[in-house]
Amino acid sequence: MATKRYYVTTAIPYVNGPPHVGHALEFVQTDALARYHRRTGEDTYFLTGSDDNSLKNVRAAEDEGIPVGDLVSRNTDSFVELDRVLDISYDQFIRTSVDERHRQGAQRLWRAVQESGDLYEQVYAGLYCLSCEQFYEPDELVDGLCPEHFIAPERVEETNYFFRLSRYQDQLEQLISSGQYRIIPDQRRNEVLSFIRSGLRDFSVSRSQERARGWGIPVPGDETQVMYVWFDALSNYITALGYATDGELYRRYWVENDCRVHVIGKGITRFHAVYWPAMLLSAGVPLPHVLFVHGYYTVEGRRIGKSMGNAIDPVALARRYGSEALRYFCLGATPSTGDTDFSMDSFESRYNADLANDLGNLLNRTVSMIGRYRDGVVPEAPHPDRDHAMLVEQARALPELIAGCMEEYDFPAALAQIWRVVGEANRYVERQAPWRLARPAVGTDEIDTAAKLDSVLNTLTQVLRLVALELEPFLPRTSAAILAQLGCDSDSSDNVAGLRVSTPQPLFPRLEVGVAEQ
Ligand code: ZN
Repeated sequence: MATKRYYVTTAIPYVNGPPHVGHALEFVQTDALARYHRRTGEDTYFLTGSDDNSLKNVRAAEDEGIPVGDLVSRNTDSFVELDRVLDISYDQFIRTSVDERHRQGAQRLWRAVQESGDLYEQVYAGLYCLSCEQFYEPDELVDGLCPEHFIAPERVEETNYFFRLSRYQDQLEQLISSGQYRIIPDQRRNEVLSFIRSGLRDFSVSRSQERARGWGIPVPGDETQVMYVWFDALSNYITALGYATDGELYRRYWVENDCRVHVIGKGITRFHAVYWPAMLLSAGVPLPHVLFVHGYYTVEGRRIGKSMGNAIDPVALARRYGSEALRYFCLGATPSTGDTDFSMDSFESRYNADLANDLGNLLNRTVSMIGRYRDGVVPEAPHPDRDHAMLVEQARALPELIAGCMEEYDFPAALAQIWRVVGEANRYVERQAPWRLARPAVGTDEIDTAAKLDSVLNTLTQVLRLVALELEPFLPRTSAAILAQLGCDSDSSDNVAGLRVSTPQPLFPRLEVGVAEQ
């Protein structure tokens, strides 16, 4: 049987400012998916990038008095830096303003849609939110303001190309309600279905060169227009693979692949659940299979964002607490979907409880005891009794349990499975009390006691090794650090006897509670 394939993408963020912690959430979630599928042996490709061609970038550059290209490059660098700091294992970072394959691919998609008869010219007058890059109907506004940004939209009137979205209403409804295009969570799927059922209106897919200041991808055959940034941005998911020339990556990961997955934030659901599949249907290109929609971080109930003035710098967080602490918070302490209030109190308390205490202590005492009682060499387990065997069985059951959680895109549930085993292992240490076995009372059978101690240390090593292997998609550095302290790596065998452990080093130094200044 052919190897399964898995293609996963992040949204490409507007790079009109540096990233905030909400971007970290999306990158880390997508990275966990990519690493997880890679680890299970699937042929995986992970795409991320930057959405350069936005009018927002034009305005931001004008405000700073610098060329748009300079602003976009500078801000893109800060996204690449965040990816580096968080060990985001992407295969490609596409920049929509400089990648020639993107320009050609977006234009090919335009022509394909045009040949289907789905583009027409029309004078358009409407209310436009520059931050959303989206027209709004008056009844969609909240007190006259954009519902996402709480700013007044601008009145815009010009001749644009329109896309016949209305033609795809029934097809989209069928694809989404049948689950052929699976939208996670259900709440988002239901919102999309009710939006589709309320009647789809054709939408504008170009802008005048003048309003775009010449920034963006030209409409093929019409020099007065550039593509609407969403038309160009959405196409990145296929242009990056070489759609323009029917390239090898495009065939391998888009056309001949049973799992094409987009990870996005809830604010851009409509573009990915309605506009994008309609464009693909029109162009005769296969659709994505899964749209996973995460929520937002809020601060005291308010959405985080540059325009809100409450952005949290994820690179600063990672420098201060470690990148794995931030990855853990995003994956283990944040519901996969829905909004989560980001507070430093909860960040620090989860760090101390889960990372420093539960996992950190388990490794530390295991490695310390092997050093102290057995000169740093993991002993054989001569008498593995029921208590040992049950714990190892629980650790061995992890891959299947985690697979179920990952099928549902439920990251905290996957990590909760791992931490359940960590908790069991800590209770096992308390029950077995190896420090007492190391100093048998006078009159006990010393050989028997030594064999018991051997079994406890061997069991703990086995369990920590299995935990480390399962942690890799979520906390790759922690996984590697645990294996290194146990004296093995991800390729070593199940038999841990004979491994030489290192001197113990704390994985997550405990924080003094209340050190947060933010
Ligand atoms: Zn808006």
